[in-house]
Amino acid sequence: MIRIKNGVLVSGSGTRETDLWIDGGKIIEKPADTSGAEVLDAENCLVFPGFIDAHTHFQTDAGWAWTADDFTSGTAAALAGGTTTIIDFATQYRGQGLNEALDTWHGRADGNCSCDYGFHMTITDWNGITRDQLPEMVSRGVTSFKAYMANDNLRISDDSLRELLRASAELGCIVGAHCELGDLVNRNRNRLLRQDKTAPKYHAQSRPNRAEVMAVARFLQLAWEARAEAWVVHLSTGGGLSEIIAARERGQTVLTETCPQYLTLTNRVYDAEGFEGAKYVCSPPIRSARDRLILLDAASKGAVDIISTDHCSFNFAGQKELGFGDFSKIPNGLPGVEHRASLVWSFATKNPELFCAMLSENAAKAFGMYPQKGALEPGADADVVVWDKREKWVIRATDQVQNVDYSPWEGFPVSGRAKYVLLRGELCAREGQVIRRGLGRFVKRSQKGKATDAAG
Ligand SMILES: [Zn+2]
Repeated sequence: MIRIKNGVLVSGSGTRETDLWIDGGKIIEKPADTSGAEVLDAENCLVFPGFIDAHTHFQTDAGWAWTADDFTSGTAAALAGGTTTIIDFATQYRGQGLNEALDTWHGRADGNCSCDYGFHMTITDWNGITRDQLPEMVSRGVTSFKAYMANDNLRISDDSLRELLRASAELGCIVGAHCELGDLVNRNRNRLLRQDKTAPKYHAQSRPNRAEVMAVARFLQLAWEARAEAWVVHLSTGGGLSEIIAARERGQTVLTETCPQYLTLTNRVYDAEGFEGAKYVCSPPIRSARDRLILLDAASKGAVDIISTDHCSFNFAGQKELGFGDFSKIPNGLPGVEHRASLVWSFATKNPELFCAMLSENAAKAFGMYPQKGALEPGADADVVVWDKREKWVIRATDQVQNVDYSPWEGFPVSGRAKYVLLRGELCAREGQVIRRGLGRFVKRSQKGKATDAAG
């Protein structure tokens, strides 16, 4: 039995000063007999439900490079930063069945994870067989799907996306979309390369704001027609946010996700010396200072539901460098899973309830894990972060757990750190160091709104 004392317990809707009791991997009511309890002191700390990162890409082949982080290193890094559950993207390759795709991702993750994990399924081949396999995904605990509107090897047509939205809604599942207009991006890319504009900054120029804004509008229109809830993944622009606000005003439900890179960095990063800008090549790219401020404002007002990372790490040496002389060959993606909470606390909000909502509770609810995850209530998994809000430290790649050779936030001073991280009642990380690995389990998710079996 564990007693966490002197802390302030936080949920998305309030705080309370009380002890937290844990036994058998679960949060329990205060027991009659408290003798023999192991005590963790949370003096001057906030106590949160374990953070959830609903958007990671571990152990994925980007076509010409595998991500630097596999499930072993990625989930350990997550834990170091207070994230006790990640949801990664399994991907159906064209011609492949969904079960086969899910088997592949289980093969990579099972037995290797240090935090709990679930999967979304990315649909790249929409047809009658795929449609018939959606219920099997639900029965296997995968209740959310994703589609790409850009990237030729992954994208599906608008009509396919509408059908996917409709079929998923009928099952009580949610669909996320990578919102960039692929044709526009391809045309820009080809033109820039023809003009011999090959440096990393042209990656960003090939994917302008309007590629996202128009795609968000299109996606929300398709979701409206399908009478489906929409999940806009990694929103990066103020214009995209305006489309979401308009959709909400006409009665649509839109789950809005952004990422630390869009809240902390600006497109000045692409002006870095030499090939350094490649470190920030991701899609959508890092935007203007104005976009950043609009998204920060939205996050501070609760208009952003979840902050995930889109963690998709590639080493600068040997991987990002593959795109030297051709920005289109730079593997896309940034690390983030390890530092998300401290970045959000330092740069986006110090409101404990909002922080809890955007880092944990809202994702648990949206993705069918609540209240097993995302809550400090009796019966919930004892995934707990004791958050030292006053700790000040500096992000350094040399100190990180994730297996990548740089950090986009190198030298950033941050405040707030996970002092203790418990996964189902086991103390697994402290002060940014992982002390117990390999305890991660697959989380079988329900459809949104259906309570998970807290005992399961
Ligand atoms: Zn992603």
